[in-house]
Amino acid sequence: MTELMAGVEHSPLALLLLGQQRDQSSERGVDCPGELPPASDPALVERARAAKAALGDQVFVLGHHYQRDEVIQFADVTGDSFRLAQQAAARPDAPYIVFCGVHFMAESADILTTDQQQVVLPDLAAGCSMADMASFQQVEDCWEQLQSAGVADVTVPVSYMNSSAAIKGFTGRHGGTICTSSNADRALEWAFTRGEKVLFLPDQHLGRNTAVRELGLSLEDCVVWNPRRPLGGNTVEQLQAARMILWKGHCSVHGRFTLESVEDVRARVPGVQVLVHPECQYEVVQAADQVGSTERIIKLVEESPAGTAWAIGTELNLVRRLADRHPDKTIVFLEKTVCFCSTMNRIDLPHLVWALEELVAGRVPNQITVEPETAKYARQALDQMLALP
Ligand code: SF4
Repeated sequence: MTELMAGVEHSPLALLLLGQQRDQSSERGVDCPGELPPASDPALVERARAAKAALGDQVFVLGHHYQRDEVIQFADVTGDSFRLAQQAAARPDAPYIVFCGVHFMAESADILTTDQQQVVLPDLAAGCSMADMASFQQVEDCWEQLQSAGVADVTVPVSYMNSSAAIKGFTGRHGGTICTSSNADRALEWAFTRGEKVLFLPDQHLGRNTAVRELGLSLEDCVVWNPRRPLGGNTVEQLQAARMILWKGHCSVHGRFTLESVEDVRARVPGVQVLVHPECQYEVVQAADQVGSTERIIKLVEESPAGTAWAIGTELNLVRRLADRHPDKTIVFLEKTVCFCSTMNRIDLPHLVWALEELVAGRVPNQITVEPETAKYARQALDQMLALP
């Protein structure tokens, strides 16, 4: 492995803090309802292999790039949230989809798969703190206030894939679209052909970075909607003048990278190129050499010549895996402290073994379902994304 962890201190506190602030009633699930095998069981790998072999084509295991290595080794396909949802939809013959990722991803898989397929999330507590920052009721309240301010009719909702099914449903019902970090620019361009303003949910950083850096809007064209304040903390005049209304949400992982971490790594690693995800703060993205979605980060590193040096600002499991796969390159983590997504990390080998063995026993554990009305509108918003030019 290259010098990934140079200057990185393990911080259990960071793991505890990330992923907090979640709303019990939305993305967050409940404790495991069954008997989990102990993490110390030396037979866990063998048990996972045996259960997967017993299920054969009956099961399709999806693994997000941010998952632990102990889980990723059992994934039939790996990818970002959108690619995984597409992959699930492309396997209508598999009755069970085991989703090693977080809750909103499993919901998207349920929306895009057939009624005969059942989507399983090995740990229901694997939510997403960003998705939890926009509850359905808060977004409905926001829309009512935009109506009172006289701007809802000219506003198009654009929601990031990292949102609950309820928010995707809201988006579809109001004629908007879903986007990913790969197509957010095209989603905004499309939205501005349909309205004068965009309500961007739930990640303010992706919305701002895309609007200002890709579409040429100014920072002054953007206002932030704080769901805890009347009119989101804005005046009616500010809402009327704004082009982008950015929901006050962020990713607990990517929001931690700072300008200081960029300056620090440049001082520590000669010739390093700083590569960050667009969920990072605006000033971090501005200071970076390259910006890219998870899939683009992987591609840029893969295609770079031997001997190049990269400081990567994204989830640590992925950065560590890239460092393992490319020993001919120097790959370091952008932050000095460890920065896992704690909710992604909830899916560990004991939970995966438990879920697979339950399926072998004929029981479907932790099934994720989206109620039909929500699924119908969420599907409209997802289909709109697929139809983006
Ligand atoms: S990395 Fe951020 S956006 Fe992704 S699941 Fe974790 S908290 Fe949510």
